[in-house]
Amino acid sequence: MTIAIDFDQIERDTLTALTATTDSATLQKWRIANLGRSSPVVAALGTLGTLSKEERRAFGQRGNQAKQALEQAFEAAAQRTSQAELTRDLAAGSLDVTAPGRRRGRGRLHPATQTLRRIYAIFAEMGFQIYRSRDVETDEFNFGLLNIPPHHPARDMWDTFYTTTPNVILRTHTSPGQIHVMRERCPEPIRVILPGMCYRYEQITARSEIQFYQVEGLAVGRHITMADLKGTLTAFAHALFGPQVRTRFRSDHFPFTEPSAEMDVECFVCDGKGCPVCKQSGWLEILGCGMVHPVVLENGGYDPREFSGFAFGMGPQRITMLMHKIEDIRYFFANDVRFLEQF
Ligand SMILES: [Zn+2]
Repeated sequence: MTIAIDFDQIERDTLTALTATTDSATLQKWRIANLGRSSPVVAALGTLGTLSKEERRAFGQRGNQAKQALEQAFEAAAQRTSQAELTRDLAAGSLDVTAPGRRRGRGRLHPATQTLRRIYAIFAEMGFQIYRSRDVETDEFNFGLLNIPPHHPARDMWDTFYTTTPNVILRTHTSPGQIHVMRERCPEPIRVILPGMCYRYEQITARSEIQFYQVEGLAVGRHITMADLKGTLTAFAHALFGPQVRTRFRSDHFPFTEPSAEMDVECFVCDGKGCPVCKQSGWLEILGCGMVHPVVLENGGYDPREFSGFAFGMGPQRITMLMHKIEDIRYFFANDVRFLEQF
């Protein structure tokens, strides 16, 4: 069987057409028509298998020769065409090669993530590990084991979202992680921070969101005292806000610590002189803390007569808001690039 194809004729015709081509659109059409899968030369080469052994050799050789000639001619034409187009464009003034290039939009970390990472780094340097625990908790872990029984009035502050499984909820704070890590590590000493997302059933306003980050900290061991708590948190405040910043502790109440306190830092906006950010007080409330309640230690498996510990919790978004004077917490999840690219 012979195939009726005249490679010489094809080469002549197609190469003439190529010489006349002056723009890249026509060039691409030529490539598809003459080097594409259904072009005469490529299609003919595809039928090699149907030829007898003797025919195949000569036909294949001539066919490949033709194909190579077309390919080389195409490359040359492509170069010639793009050069011609550039010259045309320059003459027409449509391309200003001295114009600055377009800036590429580079991504960056979310402001809350930036603060979280700074907090991780500071505590890591003090020997705290990061311990992650689940966002979905049982009522028992979220409340009961943290010394908040069903009748406790503190539960009113922490309404949350319920799943369709009874007693399974979205955690209202990272504190259930304290129980998880204690039960996992007991009787070893513990130094961890527990970061993560928390959820509360709240009206969304400039000051409150239904989901937010929290970073909790926990240290458990022998002979841990309130002095360790104050020293650790003061060192943290100095690392985050600057070594000159003053701190103060005010007594407070949390069900899972005893005694409990709030830590304030001197307002870094006005250096303690008083301004709208600190509401003229000169101080900013940064975190809650306290000595781990004996009931909580016991629920974690530690004997409170032998072990003690301290815990603290802070809202990295609130700290970010204070540091950057962000007035509305809703910006964090609004996904507005105009807000995010400022950080
Ligand atoms: Zn101030």
